[in-house]
Amino acid sequence: MDIQTREDYIQSLKDQGHVVYYDGRRVEDVTVHPAFIPHINAAAKTYEMALSPEYEALATAVSHLTGAKISRFTHIHQSVEDLIKKVQLLRAIAHETGSCFQRCVGWDALNATYMTTFDIDQKMGTDFHPRFLEYLKYVQKTNKMIVGGMTDVKGDRSKAPHQQADADLFTRVVERRDDGIVIRGAKAHQTGGANSHEILIMPTQFMRPEDADYALVCAVPLSAPGVIQIFGRQTNDDRKFQGRIDVGKPDYGLVGGETLIVFEDVFVPADRVFMCGQTEFSGTLVERFATLHRQNYGGCKGGVSDVIVGACAVACEMQGTAKASHIKDKLAEMMHLTETIYSGSVSCSAMGFATPSGAFYPDPLLANCTKQNVTRHVYEIARLAHDVAGGILATMPFENDLKSPEIGPYVEKYLAGVEGVSTENRIRILRLIENMTGGTALVESMHGAGSPQTQKVMYGRLGKLDMKKKMAKKLAGVAD
Ligand code: SF4
Ligand code: FE
Repeated sequence: MDIQTREDYIQSLKDQGHVVYYDGRRVEDVTVHPAFIPHINAAAKTYEMALSPEYEALATAVSHLTGAKISRFTHIHQSVEDLIKKVQLLRAIAHETGSCFQRCVGWDALNATYMTTFDIDQKMGTDFHPRFLEYLKYVQKTNKMIVGGMTDVKGDRSKAPHQQADADLFTRVVERRDDGIVIRGAKAHQTGGANSHEILIMPTQFMRPEDADYALVCAVPLSAPGVIQIFGRQTNDDRKFQGRIDVGKPDYGLVGGETLIVFEDVFVPADRVFMCGQTEFSGTLVERFATLHRQNYGGCKGGVSDVIVGACAVACEMQGTAKASHIKDKLAEMMHLTETIYSGSVSCSAMGFATPSGAFYPDPLLANCTKQNVTRHVYEIARLAHDVAGGILATMPFENDLKSPEIGPYVEKYLAGVEGVSTENRIRILRLIENMTGGTALVESMHGAGSPQTQKVMYGRLGKLDMKKKMAKKLAGVAD
């Protein structure tokens, strides 16, 4: 693996010269910019844990293509055990970062593309799969971080890609050449974009034959000419520039660090094009990517929720409420909700199966249920966290007030909790809870891996309603 250590990873980001904007200005080096460092630290954990004896077995795998030891984040799942290890790994990393560590999106894109290029070749006689295998070997060897580029900006949601007033609102091919293609468009909500190396672009939805230019899968280095990233605002992002206490979790990100990635007539060589015009496979690819990413959410959000529960328990000890029966009950409820989402991720993995390509795939109905539960349970966990932490969560003074020679002693004295607990530590743990249970962090649980309605749509397709109606009629003695 070319990139092995945290230092290798950071140096690789310095070297690649990708174009990123923050707050209207070009960022020359994301690795030294306060808005990006926490996200880089979180992604770096995926490299660090692969080298730690404790996590090596989870965080690495053996390539089924080359037999080499690789990062699990570049592995194609070969068994149910691989699927379960994925979920265990995500929970373990979330314990270290308390936030999204971004690298799973590209991993899911690799797996979805692997399965689907195999199917396209089987049906259409194309050679996308062998081409993709070469790319996969390159990713496994270099250990680069890949963005899973699915979500298009979509313009008027009531219209198909080719019907949009501006044809670029879905990413598309604008020119076909002998040696490759030229693409234009943009991908939204791109987790980890600013600190990744390449993007694996996929279509965002089912496509009709008229949308052939939009049925596109290809890989593009983020440093390619014409690729421009614009970083998204997050709740309380100015605090990253103001100190360490008020930001709540100073070393790691609030969420994944999302960018809008613009492709302004970007050339993609033919050996990096893995679908081009095969509209009938767009839906399959989207569904597979979505299922693989929804599989994850009880893992990473389960791990994040563990940290929230721990923070609440510590806050209650610091405030003298830990022994109250309603606090114990609420912490138990938070743990129940956490294990519920985690068990969903484990169960869809345990019920996984091999696709025709040989790559393993989680049970799609259960994976969608898992993600739907995350959109609800993480909000309930946050509600309970706000309940047990108290209103102080919303009214604490600034870090600078605590440090002020004039008023610091008042903050110290009047925000004190249990005797012997420092006020600063109490503020730190409350700020952590604030960071992890509000604003952008919650919205990520709602819409990351697809908005709740997209899971409900899958229930309609996978929920076997006709079979259930038959069962009911049979038991009730209702003839067809
Ligand atoms: Fe991975 Fe979770 Fe972040 Fe998605 S939200 S990239 S699954 S850590
Ligand atoms: Fe996500």
